[in-house]
Amino acid sequence: MRRPAWTARLPRPRGALAAVAPALLLVAIALADSPPRVQASTRPTPPLRVETVAPRMAVAVAPTPSAPAQPSVIFSVATRDRVLALTFDLDMSPSMAAALRSGTVRSWVDRDALAQLRARNVPATLFMTGLWAQAYPGLARELAQSGQFEIGNHSYSHPAFHLPCYGLWGSPVAGLASEVDRAQQAIHAVTGVAPSYFRFPGGCLDQRVVSMVHAHGLTPVQWSLNSLDAFNGSSVQIARTVIGGVHPGDIVIMHLMGGPNAPASGAALRLILPALQAQGYRFVTVGQLLGLGQGLQPAGFRGVIEAAAPPPPPAARAGRPYWVWTPWGWQSLSHPPVCRWQLNARKAWVCA
Ligand SMILES: [Zn+2]
Repeated sequence: MRRPAWTARLPRPRGALAAVAPALLLVAIALADSPPRVQASTRPTPPLRVETVAPRMAVAVAPTPSAPAQPSVIFSVATRDRVLALTFDLDMSPSMAAALRSGTVRSWVDRDALAQLRARNVPATLFMTGLWAQAYPGLARELAQSGQFEIGNHSYSHPAFHLPCYGLWGSPVAGLASEVDRAQQAIHAVTGVAPSYFRFPGGCLDQRVVSMVHAHGLTPVQWSLNSLDAFNGSSVQIARTVIGGVHPGDIVIMHLMGGPNAPASGAALRLILPALQAQGYRFVTVGQLLGLGQGLQPAGFRGVIEAAAPPPPPAARAGRPYWVWTPWGWQSLSHPPVCRWQLNARKAWVCA
């Protein structure tokens, strides 16, 4: 949000009313400066966030008030400009790493998608897992040092941070902080870059893990437009979802690991990039987008996001810390699951 230049010239308050008056003026400016409400019914409506105005007294006593607080989780950014952030997750779970080692999957890099982004010099934010950085250290460093891409943290091994979360394997609660730490260390060791943003695997979260991520100095970033490119072989459907759904200030989620988990992202980008550029859209990283406007949360956001609704897991038993939701119910494992992903009857991807 722009700060009015004249705040530095405000007289110092002489009484209670004088102290409140500049704040009221600021609130009025903030309202006038607020984004229009998004009309599409299928996506969340960015709220008018009056509470993001800087604290009242800060206006009266500080010549240059600090920037307004961002929401605890960023979904999109308030702007009228045709600008958006494409984000790409680079997943790598223990089972994906095992598939790479065994040769079941040849590569977890979508070279086609990367070529598209490079050919058009499209900036993007890449949310990288620590395991991916360690599997592709040369490429990870090249991407981070290119100046084109911003690198975010996507956990070390892609567990669910809040269950249920599709079929993602669940790490014990105590392991989640180390998932953030280990990823940060692995990404920094490989690329020389320390991420500022964190994306929850599967987007599943609750207030406890959001606070934990903040305690690590990272800002959680979700998305306002899901390309639905995960496990989707239809590039046309992915492209239609993005091109038809995009709004100024959107954060779009796609995937860049290719393979069976994101088989058509590159082909979809061939359609998406020229179409959005023809509509006048400009691409920026998440960090750049947040420099253009106030971060937004959906109006109805209550601090919990989960996917699918299996019954609660049975009580944990000693020595079996991993719970996975499968077509046959909850399975407890003493090790991270090695699995095949399948779409179940509830349209949830499960580790089977
Ligand atoms: Zn992911």
